[in-house]
Amino acid sequence: MTKKVTIGSYIKFSDSCKRDGLANYSEQGRFWDVHRSQADDVQKIYNQELEFQRLAQRIGNCSGILRFSQIDDDETGKKKLKLRLQEAHFCRVRHCPVCQWRRSLMWQARFYSALPAIIKEYPKARFLFLTLTVKNCHIEDLSDTLRIMNSGWQRLKDRKEFKSVLGWIRSTEVTKGKDGSAHPHFHILLMVPPSWFTHSYVKKSRWAELWAYCARLDYSPVVDIRTVKNCVPEASSGLTEGLKAAVAETLKYSVKPSDMIEGNNWFLQMTKQVHRKRFIASGGVLKNILRESQETNEDLIFADNLNEISDRSRIAFNWRQSEKCYRRFEQGDII
Ligand SMILES: [Zn+2]
Repeated sequence: MTKKVTIGSYIKFSDSCKRDGLANYSEQGRFWDVHRSQADDVQKIYNQELEFQRLAQRIGNCSGILRFSQIDDDETGKKKLKLRLQEAHFCRVRHCPVCQWRRSLMWQARFYSALPAIIKEYPKARFLFLTLTVKNCHIEDLSDTLRIMNSGWQRLKDRKEFKSVLGWIRSTEVTKGKDGSAHPHFHILLMVPPSWFTHSYVKKSRWAELWAYCARLDYSPVVDIRTVKNCVPEASSGLTEGLKAAVAETLKYSVKPSDMIEGNNWFLQMTKQVHRKRFIASGGVLKNILRESQETNEDLIFADNLNEISDRSRIAFNWRQSEKCYRRFEQGDII
């Protein structure tokens, strides 16, 4: 399960984009177009306030030119060409829609590359997907609410009910309430031994009690817990469709681009409220596999491209703001 992006309503391709657009060359092309288009919108919002103009400038310079290699498609064994990103400059602004997307892919790729060794050591491990929420808060109280949730999490993971958890990854997502409030919540992937289900099982109502107690909430919070279904494992990687979906959900964007763009003031206030707050944490045997603090331009390039590639031929595209698409250009073209 990859991130769903509303394509149709957002982008109407010009004829030249239909002919030479990146979407013509790669299935990922439409994701590039949508995210870069959303980045233009975020840039405009940041430009409205003096203190954010530096961020706007950086986003304006993000991923303007993309250079790809064309390679044979190994998965199908056919001669069909596939694009692999080779060069791009990323602004790495936290809420840049392009960089947020690449970061999510990078985290997923890091998780997937670490997984075989972990599964080798714990071949019978199972995964659970836990969601912890609190009541919506005023956007200006978001920072305090996140602090309360973080303290709650610290207490929760020290509980005896958590003792047999082998490892965990926790991400924070903030969505926008219809009334302009903020809805912060945690997505947590828990890795447990098979004995969890017979000896340590914690049912949903108990998770709600524990979360209320640990976060000092005076109401019963909405929580969700589900077992990640073991579907067909992919050879040697230990990955299953169910686990892939849970990982994608845990390590997706922290703020929906549509929420960023819909409410300018909400987005600007949210940016201030989450400044320097960590949105990814991990522990146990999954600790450090995401290495949040270390992120380079190269990490965002190779986010979905961990394999060695052969450099057959280069193909370049640049962002056409007015056309809302990446379009192919040749050396010597005036951009
Ligand atoms: Zn960016």
